[in-house]
Amino acid sequence: MTSSSPSPSYLIIGSGVFGASTALHLIQSRPSASITLIDRDAHTAPIRVAASWDWNKVIRSDYADIVYTRLGLEAQALWRNDPLFKPFYHESGVAWISSGGNPFGERAVRNFEELGAKQDVRSIGVEETKGLWDGFLKGADFTEVDGEKGVLVNNSSGWAEAKEALQATIQAAVDLGVKYVVAEVKGVVVEEGTCKGVVMAEGERLEADRVVLCTGAYTPKLLIDSAPEWEGLHAGGRMVAMAVTEATVPLEEVEARKLGTRPVAINDNPKERGFEVGCLPLSNINAFKCWGQVIFRNSTGDISTPLQSPSYKEAQWNVPESLQDDVRWALRSLFGADGEKLPMENFRICWDAVTPSEDFIISPHSATKGLYVATCGSFHGFKFLPVLGKYVVEMLDGKLDPALKKKWAWDREQPSIISHKQLSSVEYRDLLDKQPAENGQ
Ligand SMILES: Cc1cc2nc3c(=O)[nH]c(=O)nc-3n(C[C@H](O)[C@H](O)[C@H](O)COP(=O)(O)OP(=O)(O)OC[C@H]3O[C@@H](n4cnc5c(N)ncnc54)[C@H](O)[C@@H]3O)c2cc1C
Repeated sequence: MTSSSPSPSYLIIGSGVFGASTALHLIQSRPSASITLIDRDAHTAPIRVAASWDWNKVIRSDYADIVYTRLGLEAQALWRNDPLFKPFYHESGVAWISSGGNPFGERAVRNFEELGAKQDVRSIGVEETKGLWDGFLKGADFTEVDGEKGVLVNNSSGWAEAKEALQATIQAAVDLGVKYVVAEVKGVVVEEGTCKGVVMAEGERLEADRVVLCTGAYTPKLLIDSAPEWEGLHAGGRMVAMAVTEATVPLEEVEARKLGTRPVAINDNPKERGFEVGCLPLSNINAFKCWGQVIFRNSTGDISTPLQSPSYKEAQWNVPESLQDDVRWALRSLFGADGEKLPMENFRICWDAVTPSEDFIISPHSATKGLYVATCGSFHGFKFLPVLGKYVVEMLDGKLDPALKKKWAWDREQPSIISHKQLSSVEYRDLLDKQPAENGQ
């Protein structure tokens, strides 16, 4: 594109963090372009199905993979300083309790050193952890946790008010000229080897020069529905729709008053139960949010899809006892006997697209011209809201750094070791039949 040629037009499907950030960065970089953001839910809707729609999310740069450390630091600088994101960011610290040594903590600290990043971070022992934050984590399950350095505490990390930040980002894009359309997209339209646009559930067709799929866990189904016989278009093993359960914990006034001083707390103990549980302060509604340890899928035919009966929106609130119990485990795991007494409400199943390496996909689709994919947060994508769109725009312009282009490609070499998250073969249907055992498993 030369400076005098008109900008292409864009359709962005999905207004989670990938779509919202893409819309904002696109309109900022080409103010006169026709950019339409489509989602089944209005961005102002009080409840949405997006993984990005949530009470709060962890914001951190603590990563074993230095690429995400760097990206996290870039995003965090904006969470701290950009007037758009700053009102929603709370730097309360994060405590990671890791059983069986703490290679994650060691790698995270090494990454900060390598990048010369100033962070208030260190790996500490169990007894020191118990004494921090007025004994907040004194009842946590520290089984198999290294007594000297099993807990990574990063006071430069924190959390964000998620749905509020997402909504503000979309509003900022709309204010600059992005058109927001509420519609269910049935499929992408490919004619003569080029993606021409999308077709809606009601049959209406929207066209644009470039179509960017930011459709999260719904992507594999959308691609199959677009052309059931055309395997080259389908996601195949590139991503799997997987879910985790979350809930909120309302707090009595005395506890609520301490929320501002509480860190995000994460515990992977016991590892054989699943991934990790966590708990985040939610000071604006006097609550914590917790998430469970069991990652599961809903396999139907060749793919996993988010539950959709009677609708995506209702299905996310229909949480079986066994999964409610899984979130309650977070209270036991982090606060011991005291935690078990706390009430829980607002149980929700949250779906995300997970890749085998937990890397995003930000890439042209290799099967057709005009179609691009930017999604697959792999349970860690939210924190990058301020910067994701910058990289999507670079990808669209063919200017993405070669290493990132390779890492986030649609067609890339799959890792020899599949990520812990995607390895989970727990099926939703099996959780339905399972009676919760006395210990909650
Ligand atoms: C329980 C849980 C906790 C998490 N905690 C954190 C955390 O603390 N920190 C962090 O950084 N990350 C976290 N994540 C990960 C993060 O939330 C996701 O990686 C990220 O939000 C994914 O964004 P997305 O834009 O790809 O997808 P989504 O947010 O799911 O957005 C996809 C959008 O596409 C729309 N859509 C899809 N198909 C269609 C269609 N056919 N027609 C119309 N619209 C459609 C959907 O309605 C939706 O709005 C968590 C995830 C989960 C599940």
